[in-house]
Amino acid sequence: MTIRASIRAHRAPRPDHDGGAPAALVFEGVTKHYGSAVGVESLDLAIPAGELVTLIGPSGCGKSTTLRLAAGLERPNAGTIRVAGDVVADRRRFVYPEQRRVGLVFQDYALFPHMTVAGNVEFGLDRLGRGERRARTGEVLDLVRLSHLADRYPHELSGGEQQRVALARALAPRPAVVLLDEPFSSLDESLRAQVRRDTVATLKEAGTTGVLVTHDQTEALSVGTRVVVMRGGVIEQADTPEKVFEQPATRFVASFMGDADFLPAKVHRALLTCEIGVVSTVPGWADADVDVDVVLRPHEVALLPDPASSARVSAVEYHGAFVLHYVTLASGRTLRSWQPHSVRHPVGTPVAVTVAPGTTPTLLLGDKAITSPPPGSSLKQRSSEPAA
Ligand code: ADP
Ligand code: MG
Repeated sequence: MTIRASIRAHRAPRPDHDGGAPAALVFEGVTKHYGSAVGVESLDLAIPAGELVTLIGPSGCGKSTTLRLAAGLERPNAGTIRVAGDVVADRRRFVYPEQRRVGLVFQDYALFPHMTVAGNVEFGLDRLGRGERRARTGEVLDLVRLSHLADRYPHELSGGEQQRVALARALAPRPAVVLLDEPFSSLDESLRAQVRRDTVATLKEAGTTGVLVTHDQTEALSVGTRVVVMRGGVIEQADTPEKVFEQPATRFVASFMGDADFLPAKVHRALLTCEIGVVSTVPGWADADVDVDVVLRPHEVALLPDPASSARVSAVEYHGAFVLHYVTLASGRTLRSWQPHSVRHPVGTPVAVTVAPGTTPTLLLGDKAITSPPPGSSLKQRSSEPAA
C-alpha cells in the first residue's frame, strides 16, 4: 500500500464510528434463532453516542430479542455486537451482562421489593467503595427527582415513581447505553405522557445513549432522534422520525407508522394521477410512464360536498379534536380524511376528494417506495424500441 493509500484507508470512516467516538452500540450481521423461530436475522444497526433511538414493530418482530442480545441475556448465533467500541459478542467472545456497560429498564421495573429506593439504586454499584456508592446514588436520585423518597420501599411508590427508580438504577453505573423495553406500557394513559417526558429529559440530561422499545407509533416518532422499524426479525427502515413518516421506505412502514390508504396510480410525463384525479407533479419524471400505488394519509386528503361526485361519505368517527371521515370512491376503495373538530359531513354525502396542496405522496412499486423512475419506465426508451 502506498503512503497516501494507507492514510486514506486509515481515515476512511468506519460504519460504527461517528466523528472519532465509537458508536455506543453496534450490531453487525447479528442473527438469533430460537429453534425454528426467528428472533432477529442479519441485523445491522449502529447507534451513535448520545442518540435516543426508538425501536418499533409488531409483536414478535424481534424488538426484545435485539435488546436482550445487547444486554447479554441472549447469545447470537452469528454476527458481532459492540458496546462503546468493545466487542461483547461474536463467534469467540461473549461478555456477561454484568461486565457490559449496558443498563436495562423493563416494563415491570423488576425492583427488589425488600430494598429501599436507595438500596435498589446502590445494588448495581457494588464495585465502588461505600462513600462513592452513596454519592453516586444521591446524584442519580437527584437526576430523577426522587431524593426525598430514598428510604421508601417500592410498594410505597406510585407506578411513575417506580419507573424513575428503575431508570436511576440503570443509569447509576454510567452505562454506555441504556435499553428500555416498553417501560411505560404498564402506566395508565394519564401518567404515561408525563413519565415519558421525564424519562427522555433525564436521559438527555445524563447524556446517555438510549434504545427505547415501544409499540406506540406516536411515542416512537416523538421521542426518538432516530426510529428503527422492525418486522419479522429484520429492519425495514432506520431513519429520522420525519423520514419514517413522510418518506416510508416500504408499504409496511407506510401502513404501520400512522394511517395510510393506498390507491393504484399512474405517473405519466411527471403527472401523478389516480381515481381522485391529479394528485401532484413528480419533478424529474418527465419521460416516465409507470403504474404505481400512491400512499395517502388522512391528513392529506381534503373533502368538499359536491352533488356531482360519485364518492360518498361512508362512515364518520368523532375523535374529539378531529373527525375522521371514511369516503368510498366509485371503485369501492376507501380513503380516510381528517376534518377539523367542527366539520361533520353526514354519511351518504357526495364529496369531491382532493389532495391537500403541497403534499408529496410516497409512491410504491410493489412493496417498495420509489423516488425515481424505475428502469424501463421511460417513454423515450420505449418509443425508440422497434415495434414488435
Ligand atoms: P418483540 O419484543 O418484538 O415482541 P421478541 O424479540 O420477544 O419480539 O420475539 C421475536 C420472536 O422470537 C418471536 O417469534 C418470539 O416468539 C420468539 N422468541 C422470543 N423469545 C423466545 C424464547 N425464549 N424461546 C422461543 N422463542 C422466542
Ligand atoms: Mg417485546
